[in-house]
Parts: sequence; C-alpha cells; structure tokens
Amino acid sequence: MTVSESIIPPKISSKEQAQKLIDEHDNFLFDCDGVIWLDEKLIPGVLSTIEYLQSKNKRYVFVTNNSSKSRQNYVEKFQRLGFKGITKDMIYPTCYAATFNLKEHLKVPEGSKIWVLGDSGIEDELREANYIPVGGTDDRLNAPFDPHHELLKVDPDVKAVVVGSTKDFNYMRIASTLQYLLHDNKSIPFIGANIDRSYPSDGLILPAGGSVVNYMQYTADRDFINVGKPSTTLLDVILEHSRFDKEKTIMVGDTLYTDIKFGNDGQLANSLLVFSGGTTKQYFDHFLTTSYKQEETKSMIPSCYIESFGDIIDLIN
Ligand SMILES: [Mg+2]
Repeated sequence: MTVSESIIPPKISSKEQAQKLIDEHDNFLFDCDGVIWLDEKLIPGVLSTIEYLQSKNKRYVFVTNNSSKSRQNYVEKFQRLGFKGITKDMIYPTCYAATFNLKEHLKVPEGSKIWVLGDSGIEDELREANYIPVGGTDDRLNAPFDPHHELLKVDPDVKAVVVGSTKDFNYMRIASTLQYLLHDNKSIPFIGANIDRSYPSDGLILPAGGSVVNYMQYTADRDFINVGKPSTTLLDVILEHSRFDKEKTIMVGDTLYTDIKFGNDGQLANSLLVFSGGTTKQYFDHFLTTSYKQEETKSMIPSCYIESFGDIIDLIN
C-alpha cells in the first residue's frame, strides 16, 4: 500500500519554511521529554531556537505528561539547563493538571486527603493546593507485601485517587491503591496523570506513567479521568490561563497519540512532529502507510515535521 501524496505532511527543511513557521504563529506549546531535553541533556539547538522566539516576542508554554516533578522542580530544571525567564505559570505538568482537576472540575474541598500512586511531584502540587497527599512516597509502602499492613485499610477521609508516573511501582503500592479504587462501589474519583506507554531515556525506551495508570485501570476494572495530553480539557485550561488564540498556536511534540493528537483534537493552527524523542522517521513512515485511513488515527497526523526543533535556528541563520 502506498500513502496518498495528499496526506504526507511536509518536512520543514528550508530557511523559508522555518521562517514561515515562526512568523505564522504567536504561541508555541512544547512537550518537554524528547523535544526540549532527554533527561538532563538539552537537545542541541533548542535553547537558541527558544531564545530566538523570545526575541521575536513569541509566547510559549510547556506541557508535559510527566507527573514526577512539580512546576517548581521544572522551573529549577529549566534554569539548570540555561533557560532564562521560565516561570511556574508557563509549565503544565500533569501533577498540576490533576490538582487543578480535583479543585475546579471535581470540586473536591481543600483539606481533603488524596491517595497517590506516583512520585513527589503529585504530592508537592497537592500540598500547594491545600490537599493532604497520602500513600505516594510514604516509606511504609516500600515494605514487602503483607496482607495485614496498616495502609491496606481504607481511610474514609480519602476523597480521590491520583495515579501517575513512578519507578517505585511495587505490590504494596498497587494493592493499597486498589483498595481505594474498589471502595464504596468504586465511587472515589480516579484520576490518571497520563496515558504514555513509554519514554526515551539514556538510549533506552522505558515504561512511562500510562503503563502504571492502565495497570490500575485493568485491575480495578474501571475507567480513569485522563488529565494529561491529549485531553482537550487540559488544552482549554492552558489556552484560558495563557490567553492564547488557537488560530495562532502550534503544538510541538515527539509523540503522535499524545502531543500531535492534543494539538489536532484541540483544533490548534498546526502541530509539528519532531524525531528527537521517542518517534523515529521509520516508525512515522510506517504509521502513515498503515494508519492514514483509520478514523481514530487521523488525528495523530501532524501538519508538518522536522528532525529536531533545534534545527529551526540553523535553518534561519
Ligand atoms: Mg515527549
């Protein structure tokens, strides 16, 4: 099968195309892992390209499905990597999206306990919003499984469950989380911080938070509220907070089913795929030949692509 010419997105490969991409958009939404950095390593050219955007008075925010770190932690990471002028209100990790959802959509009162399966980013954001995180990084959950463990008994004051990325995924944690998800006829709200299957790290592809969330969904046999990309609820929050006009906004990401779908479902002006993270050109070509006719994958086709967002500055200079 060959792909019809009309659905192959263009590659940004000339100075004119790169300049047009910058000129046509006032606002940029960036994924982080695989677009800005790989772990602690900045992707070459990205910092200069973002400084160029700054010099052109473009506005931008970062939206990541990684819930492990709080917005404050991200501010520090951006500083560490040499970025200037990145403030908390420009960063949307899903630990913040989860907290925002609890407060603004689910109307869970401040002061409530929230059960966490995930890292300290979720706990930090919950505390900042005046919730009381329980579970999470609690040392007692590092113990080998014991059916009589105190944390397997449901605390009736817990008003919601938030599940996100963690490397501390052991049987005590999933067993205790399951008690809350099943409690009272499965009535406690279940928030999933992301649906990402994997992420690139140190030359490896590693399991991401979506694998944790989906594990809990399967064992509890109930759906979760996805507060991460591609949720259009999250996009609406960002657009409203930042006062971005959709028609002048582009989403830049390395993952088709989260980043690109997020931009397309949200009807942003454009979506730009990069190959500096978890998606390879080879995979993308295969995706286009096998998926372009299927209704559910149409929304994952980007408007255009480039090897790396850092290449923009090289093309322009
Ligand atoms: Mg990514």
